[in-house]
Amino acid sequence: MELWQEMIRNSITTVDHLVEKFNIDKEVAGKLDEFFQARINPYYLSLIRYPGDPIWLQCVPDIKELEDLDAEDDPLHEDDMSPVPNITHRYPDRALFLVTSQCGLYCRFCTRKRKVGDQTKISMRTFESAFRYLEQHTEISDVILSGGDPLMLTDTMLEKILIRLRQIKHIQVIRLGSKMPCVLPQRITPQLVEMLKKYHPIYCNTHFNHPWEITEESKKACGMLADAGIPVGNQCVLMKGVNDNTETMKQLMKGLLAMRVRPYYIYMADLTKGANHFRTPIKVGLDIMDKLRGHISGLAVPHFVVDAPGGGGKIPLLPNYVISQDENKIVLRNFKYNIYEYPDVREGSQITDESMFMRKSPRRRKSLVSKKERIKKIKVPVIQNS
Ligand code: SF4
Repeated sequence: MELWQEMIRNSITTVDHLVEKFNIDKEVAGKLDEFFQARINPYYLSLIRYPGDPIWLQCVPDIKELEDLDAEDDPLHEDDMSPVPNITHRYPDRALFLVTSQCGLYCRFCTRKRKVGDQTKISMRTFESAFRYLEQHTEISDVILSGGDPLMLTDTMLEKILIRLRQIKHIQVIRLGSKMPCVLPQRITPQLVEMLKKYHPIYCNTHFNHPWEITEESKKACGMLADAGIPVGNQCVLMKGVNDNTETMKQLMKGLLAMRVRPYYIYMADLTKGANHFRTPIKVGLDIMDKLRGHISGLAVPHFVVDAPGGGGKIPLLPNYVISQDENKIVLRNFKYNIYEYPDVREGSQITDESMFMRKSPRRRKSLVSKKERIKKIKVPVIQNS
């Protein structure tokens, strides 16, 4: 048995464990277990610094989960968009392939609680119809292996899936949606990365939510993936008490970038059963984005998105940078709230400013540059972001 598998085996999972370790009332612990079971592996447990801290909140069951059972089981309507078992086909050229119900840690905010935990919730017996669907749908060029966590499969099992996917010529990109680099980085072994790199292009989207999750172990895991030519992106969820402030997000994004993980998304928390206590106002996310863009490297600035309830997919949200716009110009503010005018191109015009610029003589180009310089800085009093 590999180290990561031993750590899974030694996880906190039972009601008695919860009572003993976290001092949860036995009856409440029983109800929480029925609602959504716990799995806290020893590595992630070791990251907790004090009760109620951002790591604790993500993994320790909380009575608040039982006070909020109104939301839908499947808020993103993944099952409605599932043409065959294990596949969700929401976007034109991409498909989600659920390959296991197991995870290295069960996150209390999980949107897929309905699928996660119990081995029978995602069955390997139905893989064949999933492969056939992917074979028949030639428009699908990108398959995201998810679950659960695909890296809960053994290397052998995962390789069987990859071999089969690589036999489908129209599938260009395979993505692994895995939280393992964050919650159980010991899973990223030399053998695993050696195997994965035979099936390129492979990408990995992982899921760090707080800078305390960036450790020597997780840096090593992400480094091994990057060294194997697997670009790693991060999807994080904005959560009250976990990362709902600029400083934490800044540290997280910069820390990720430093270990070669590209921040990809910040999600608004989904309307998930038992997870309402994690939700923040949208303004919190917009304010964070406002203080990231321009203030830290653009490489470290993710997209802020709402995954639309009912299956509308990811919709990006931006702080408001447009002050006004007419047919001649757009007036914008930058990250310091300085105001700039940018001349627009009239609709129907075949000649852009840029092509005009390229055709001019050097002398005329110079005069255009100075004109651009002149309109560059029109400072007006600071306007607060709406
Ligand atoms: S790892 Fe992902 S699928 Fe598993 S419990 Fe956490 S959020 Fe849910």
